[in-house]
Amino acid sequence: MTSESTTTPDKTEDSTVESTEPESALETARRQLHQAASHLDIDQNIVERLKHPMKVHEVTVPIERDDGTVDVFTGYRAQHDSVRGPYKGGLRYHPEVTQAECVGLGMWMTWKCAVMDLPFGGAKGGVAVNPKELSSGEKERLTRRFAQEIRDVIGPNRDIPAPDMGTDPQTMAWLMDAYSMQEGETTPGVVTGKPPVVGGSEGREEAPGRSVAIITKRACEYYNSDLNGTTVAVQGYGSVGANAARLLDEWGATVIAISDVNGTMYDPEGIDTAAVPSHDEEPEAVTKYADDVISNDELFTLDVDVLIPAALGNVITEANADAIAADLVVEGANGPTTSSASAILADRDIPVIPDILANAGGVTVSYFEWLQDINRRSWSLERVNDELETEMQAAWEAVRTEFEQRDVTWRDAAYIVALSRIAKAHEARGLWP
Ligand code: GLU
Repeated sequence: MTSESTTTPDKTEDSTVESTEPESALETARRQLHQAASHLDIDQNIVERLKHPMKVHEVTVPIERDDGTVDVFTGYRAQHDSVRGPYKGGLRYHPEVTQAECVGLGMWMTWKCAVMDLPFGGAKGGVAVNPKELSSGEKERLTRRFAQEIRDVIGPNRDIPAPDMGTDPQTMAWLMDAYSMQEGETTPGVVTGKPPVVGGSEGREEAPGRSVAIITKRACEYYNSDLNGTTVAVQGYGSVGANAARLLDEWGATVIAISDVNGTMYDPEGIDTAAVPSHDEEPEAVTKYADDVISNDELFTLDVDVLIPAALGNVITEANADAIAADLVVEGANGPTTSSASAILADRDIPVIPDILANAGGVTVSYFEWLQDINRRSWSLERVNDELETEMQAAWEAVRTEFEQRDVTWRDAAYIVALSRIAKAHEARGLWP
């Protein structure tokens, strides 16, 4: 089944922030759109268009379990906007994946690609399933069947999926294989985040964490603090959190807290981040290596220079925003701060560097991967990291300029950069027919 829908209820006509929690990714994304649009002189009709996804595909994904029974899951691909290029964004395997969440996250991808000036639009998809309850064979069958169900709407010039929560390079290799077998030709550019041996890019897995570290360094410099002597707390020790923590540690920062679902490892003298396995290396093992464990709620109240939420969405809410003692928040996860919490932190003059800039290294190296696939020529890790640094620097400068000139929050500044580029592209292309 494929359904197209743009009928998601619109509860966020203005950017007024009242008590709105729990807030869906879509609600947050629409509030942020209105907030940014209010600073710009752009055609209201374009804002109206951007509030809605172009298409949302909902598919049924039946798979045979290892015991011979059949289970049926629901998958989605929400394609938000493609004015600047093919749709781009991750695929999530998580029990709470919904259509509205995919739409909201797809909108964020549109802004993220635009803030990085990549020639892509935004999309997000996923399957409502708990990947921890699937064997490797079941995950492979789910991925191949899902690939088949969305095959008509993806493609290297149409919509290019990538890993997200609960999916990884192996998932992308299966997806690429399923697509290629049906098309009759090997098509590496249909997905990014693949293993390098089948057209993936060096440095892609570390890229979101690397960009979080690069942006944290820039932000510290902006606020006149050197990374040496800067204390950092990182919530989540998966790919984003662990890579960001290790790079910051390597560059001289003192990482004093890292966490996973079981608790927070705390050491005011600094953690040897390389010695603690990331979620990918040994799942949920952080507290096994800790002498001192504090609760995950306490991590948010630590008096650190930088707090990096790098796990789930909606973790900084109106319930804990008042207790945050960090001087700076850098968003590693997508959507970790609710609208109400953003307003509280803005009132308290705590800068929040938004996800669409900070973790955009992932999609940026996805773009490099796509270029390598299309050109059939791979880049060295050194080249990938150098070009990523250059792109992050350019995006940082564009956002910093808006931040300073308009006296807005960092989030608004990033949205203003993104939205102006998207609006100009819509104006140039016009409305068809
Ligand atoms: N899922 C990642 C994100 O949220 C990467 C998307 C991509 O590389 O297309 O940015």
